[in-house]
Amino acid sequence: MKIVLPKKVVHIIDILEKNGFEAYAVGGCVRDIILGKTPNDWDITTSAKPQEIKSLFHRTIDTGIEHGTVTVMMDKEGFEVTTYRIDGEYEDNRHPKQVIFTDKLKEDLKRRDFTINAMAFNYRRGIVDEFGGIKDLQDGIVRCVGNPEERFGEDALRILRAVRFAAQLDFDIHEDTCRAIKLLVKNLTNISKERIQTEMDKMICSDHPEKILMAYKLGITKWILPEFDRMMNVPQNSIYHMYNVGVHTVKVMENIENNHYLRWAALLHDIGKPDKHVIGEDGYSHFYGHGDLGEKMAVSILKGLKFDNKTVKIVSRLVKHHDDTIRLTDYGVKKSVVKVGCDIFPMLIKLKWADLAGKSDYSKEHTTDDLKKLQEIYEKIVERGDCLEIKNMAVNGRDLIEWGLKPGAEVGEGLDKLFEEVLKHPENNTKEKLKQIIFT
Ligand code: ATP
Ligand code: MG
Repeated sequence: MKIVLPKKVVHIIDILEKNGFEAYAVGGCVRDIILGKTPNDWDITTSAKPQEIKSLFHRTIDTGIEHGTVTVMMDKEGFEVTTYRIDGEYEDNRHPKQVIFTDKLKEDLKRRDFTINAMAFNYRRGIVDEFGGIKDLQDGIVRCVGNPEERFGEDALRILRAVRFAAQLDFDIHEDTCRAIKLLVKNLTNISKERIQTEMDKMICSDHPEKILMAYKLGITKWILPEFDRMMNVPQNSIYHMYNVGVHTVKVMENIENNHYLRWAALLHDIGKPDKHVIGEDGYSHFYGHGDLGEKMAVSILKGLKFDNKTVKIVSRLVKHHDDTIRLTDYGVKKSVVKVGCDIFPMLIKLKWADLAGKSDYSKEHTTDDLKKLQEIYEKIVERGDCLEIKNMAVNGRDLIEWGLKPGAEVGEGLDKLFEEVLKHPENNTKEKLKQIIFT
């Protein structure tokens, strides 16, 4: 295997070695290059102490100096260089009380979470693989370094990292590691919501979002997204469906591109169903109003996970409208675009396609043509550039005031009336025509 490190990383390692220290690329970047993937970032581990690292490079930033991490700047790019360390005793399932520097690489590798993340590489020594990381990479296994119970006991975030890597790499989790997860999963309550969000987001936006079922089986979702467990317990006895709500949800995630908003919308689109489940007189499951309830639940779940406002707003709106019935006329589609929002309508169409892909053959036979038609009508509307927002009409409030309407409610109602007109008859979107219309 030929491993190529970027020039800047080689340069940093060279300088450290020339000054009598050891230095290696380490962790995720070694895992990724062995897998033939491009690493997100390059971490370097070294026997040099933080002050020594700082003295060897012109520009450094004290990123986490108390934990031994200094960022070395090369042009505009930063590389984290961390002193070999042993983590001291852990507090609250997450934070080591203190860190102890060491001069042994193996000690540093031992504190890392999984064998696949515990390898180091430099050109002098090649790959340093003390814990069977290469074999686990070949076998597709996520396995703790050392005793899994101890490792998850130290830091419960590793529980989420295990499924996150399983999802990103399409790996299994080793049975001993699984057993320890099941045993210690409730320690997840000690992990901050922000950290949970980051790991969940990486899992859900990975190539294998279906691994959320692995998280479910290991008892993880019960602590971080109990609403998912409830979906797994709701059958869908109807001609439209062939899976329970949870499994259907997973199918929808698998059938949508790995865009952050779309994946979260897919995960949460039916979150309102468990509370809205009724068996109708026809003997089938119905879920009237699950979109509206789902919107509220999505807001509370996403806020609870400390997501940014943009995510909360976009995802909850998609959830609310995912099951809207849309009339398949120009005007019907435009009304829906206005209700849902121009910004997310293309996403709503994608969500509807994915939703359908997770339903029964009966649904597919009966809905595919309608969805195609919806998409066609929408695309034509966009192509023609029809006005879809009040603010893009040929007139605005100031024009109406100039024509003699009273500022306030009268102008507001006037604009609404004209907008309706423009949605129905886009050819009337000119100042002259709208002026005529307002006075008829
Ligand atoms: P990514 O591709 O997401 O960056 P990564 O493996 O590089 O994945 P980082 O969070 O960047 O993950 O961490 C870098 C390395 O630090 C890991 O590969 C692992 O060796 C170690 N590490 C990170 N978090 C932990 C943890 N919670 N417990 C033990 N070791 C950890
Ligand atoms: Mg990394």
